[in-house]
Amino acid sequence: MSLSDIEHRIKAACDAAGRARSDVKLIAVSKVQPNERVEAVLEAGHRLFGENKVQEAAGKWPAFRDTYDGVSVHLLGPLQTNKVKQAMELFEAIHSVDREKLARKIADQAQERGTCPDLFLQINTGEEPQKAGVIPSDADAFIATVRALDLPIAGLMCIPPADEEPSLHFALLGKIAARNGITGLSMGMSGDFERAIALGATHIRVGSAIFGARDYG
Ligand SMILES: *Cc1c(COP(=O)(O)O)cnc(C)c1O
Repeated sequence: MSLSDIEHRIKAACDAAGRARSDVKLIAVSKVQPNERVEAVLEAGHRLFGENKVQEAAGKWPAFRDTYDGVSVHLLGPLQTNKVKQAMELFEAIHSVDREKLARKIADQAQERGTCPDLFLQINTGEEPQKAGVIPSDADAFIATVRALDLPIAGLMCIPPADEEPSLHFALLGKIAARNGITGLSMGMSGDFERAIALGATHIRVGSAIFGARDYG
């Protein structure tokens, strides 16, 4: 696979769904990938990336930002409250807002900085104990809590269980978003982004299909 192959597949999925290509943002998930692979994708002109860890992103993106204009990096992985300040300096968006304490900390920092990254609330659609995110029955209340903190919500995010049909989870996320007047949907990864686009994804998070397998060595 390559970036241009993925681009073709995204375009085809948008066409099939009657959606504009510009309605779907491709987040190239660069976590764990060697710098040469990330650089190749930057050289190809892509500018939107996703990372899972604050520390890892802090180690590589400042240098890439010095070299390439217009880079945007989104945090996809869990965020500890003691890393919020650093995260808000590093990322244009956070897709893993999943508890009130974290939202409060982000709100405090947003006050101080006068700006706030785009925020996506993570919903644990499969109600998996090992996964982050609020369970669907708590979603409406959590959305209200975040709004009461004066934080704008860019969208909702989910990571479906590995062994279930992802479309059911994408549809559920879309339903929760729609009834709360939220337009952004961060859903779909290498194995299922076309299905996510069919169900309204606005941000797809594709790693291995662009960069190759991750070597956790
Ligand atoms: C790693 C990761 C991805 C990308 O996964 P691939 O299967 O490599 O496309 C997307 N979203 C999140 C939250 C991830 O952690």
